[in-house]
Amino acid sequence: MAKNLSTYRAVHVVSKGKLELAEKPLLDPPAGHVRIRVEACGVCHSDAITVDGLLPIQYPRVPGHEAVGKIDVIGPGVEGWRVGQRVGVGFLGGNCGYCEYCRDGDLVNCTNQAFTGVQHDGGCGEDPAADPAPARIVITTQLLLRASCAPAERRVTPP
Ligand SMILES: [Zn+2]
Ligand SMILES: [Zn+2]
Repeated sequence: MAKNLSTYRAVHVVSKGKLELAEKPLLDPPAGHVRIRVEACGVCHSDAITVDGLLPIQYPRVPGHEAVGKIDVIGPGVEGWRVGQRVGVGFLGGNCGYCEYCRDGDLVNCTNQAFTGVQHDGGCGEDPAADPAPARIVITTQLLLRASCAPAERRVTPP
């Protein structure tokens, strides 16, 4: 059977404690976002936040906040990133810039940040070997910058 190139398969949480395999729409990234073709995604204890609904969460939601892959689509207005760059995505979804913590330079404790796999879908999708429709996630470039946790000399930096 031919694959539908406008969808990808992912495991998503449909309600507290209930996971299902789903065919999800392959979304184009909105302004300020890129789409990543996921190559690997860790399974972490913090995924329990998504599965067990430990934070306010709108289901269905794809967990997976330890994803690595290559940018496959660049959204409008994105500068400094290119298709094909390998990037890593983490749990913290960027800071707001105006809360008390942000104003103190304590960005990791921002009270308004989103989390990958909680407010937006994470990287738990189909095995990349199942190309041409592997997992994709759409992510803000702010999140990419925060999540680049490779050693400084190996970090992917905007050109
Ligand atoms: Zn984790
Ligand atoms: Zn903040």
